[in-house]
Amino acid sequence: METLDRSGIDALLTALRERGFTVLGPTVRDRAIVYDELRSTADLPVGVTDEQAAGSYRLTHRGDDALFGYTVGPHSWKRWLHPPLVRLLRITPEEGGQGFTADSSDPGARRWAFVGVRACELAAIGIQDRVFLDGPAVDPVYDARRRGVFVVAVNCAQAGGTCFCASMDAGPRAREGFDLALTEVVDDDRHYFLVEDGSPEGREVLAALPSRLATADEVKTADRILESAASSMGRSLEMDGLPEILGRGYDSPRWEKVATRCLSCTNCTMVCPTCFCSTVEDVNDLADGAAERWRRWDSCFTTEFSYLHGGSVRTSVSSRYRQWLTHKLGTWIEQFGSPGCVGCGRCITWCPVGIDLTEEAAALRESDRALHA
Ligand code: SF4
Ligand code: SF4
Repeated sequence: METLDRSGIDALLTALRERGFTVLGPTVRDRAIVYDELRSTADLPVGVTDEQAAGSYRLTHRGDDALFGYTVGPHSWKRWLHPPLVRLLRITPEEGGQGFTADSSDPGARRWAFVGVRACELAAIGIQDRVFLDGPAVDPVYDARRRGVFVVAVNCAQAGGTCFCASMDAGPRAREGFDLALTEVVDDDRHYFLVEDGSPEGREVLAALPSRLATADEVKTADRILESAASSMGRSLEMDGLPEILGRGYDSPRWEKVATRCLSCTNCTMVCPTCFCSTVEDVNDLADGAAERWRRWDSCFTTEFSYLHGGSVRTSVSSRYRQWLTHKLGTWIEQFGSPGCVGCGRCITWCPVGIDLTEEAAALRESDRALHA
C-alpha cells in the first residue's frame, strides 16, 4: 500500500492523459454530482457532499477540501459503457443506386479512464460484464467501450443516506476489478490518499506518481474509516430466501399497494447501474435515402416494453413493479448468477415518491412469513 498526497491526484490525472486515456470522473453540474470529462482536480466536487433520502437529493458543503467526499449521484458508469442512445448501424445508398454501404462503427467509443468508481459501481460493472460479454451473444457496443478501461476506484469514506451495499457484499471497500483503488483521508492537518494497485497497468501508473510506502498508522486510519462507513449504513437488504419468497409472492397484495404510489416513471431503471433493457428504432432519411438503427434505454415500467403481438402483457403498474423487483432480486440470479442489485440506493433516492425496494422486499418477506408460517 502506498500513500499519495493531495497534489498526487493532479499527477495521477496527468499520467492517465499522457497514456492516452480520456479521463472521466465526478463533477458538479445541475446541482448534482455527475460523471464527465475531467481536465484537472479543479473539476472534481471539491468540498461538496450529497445528502440523500428516499425521494430526495441535495448537495451541501462539507467544510473541508475532500475531493471524493460524497457517495453516488444520478449517473452511473453504464451511461458510458451502455449509453442511453447509440447508433448501431447506418446504411447509405451508393452513387448510382447500385448498392449500399453499411457502417456499424461506434463514434462514441474512447480509451477511457474512470476515476472515482465506487465499490458498488465496480460490482455493477461486473454484473453488466456478465450480461453483455459472458452470454452466448457478446454485445459489440459494450465490448468495444469496456475493453481497456482503466479503473481508479475510490473507497467510500461515508455511507450515503440510501446506501445498503454492505448487506449486498458490494462495498464500501473495492476488492477487485480496479487498476488503482484510493482511500481518501482528510485529517485536521493532513489530506492524503492510501493507494492500492490491482493490475500490472495500475502498478505502472502508480510507479510514475510521487507516492511513498504507507505507514502502519495510515493503513489503520483508512481501515477505520471504511469500517465506520460500513457500520453506519441505515438500510440493509436480506437476500436469504428472497428469490423463493418473490416466486411464491406472485399474488401478494403488496404489489397493488406499491402500485398506488408508483408513477411508472422509469426513473429507478434509468439510474440503476445494472438495469440494461433497451429498445431498437429504425429511422430513414428521405433526403439522402440513408437508414439508421439506434438503440436507446428502455424500461420494464413502460407498457410498450412488454408489447407482444398486438398488446402489452403488463398493462397494470402492479405487474410492472412486480416484474422489476422479481427480476432484480430473484430471477436475475438464475440468469446471471447474482442479484441485479448492488445496494447503491439510487432507485430509492431518485424515485419521485420515495419507494424503497428494501422496504418492499421486507414487506413481502413479512407477508410470506404470515402466510406460510
Ligand atoms: S436496484 Fe436500486 S439499489 Fe439496487 S443497484 Fe439498482 S439502483 Fe442501486
Ligand atoms: S418505483 Fe419510483 S422511480 Fe420506479 S417507476 Fe415507480 S415511481 Fe418511478
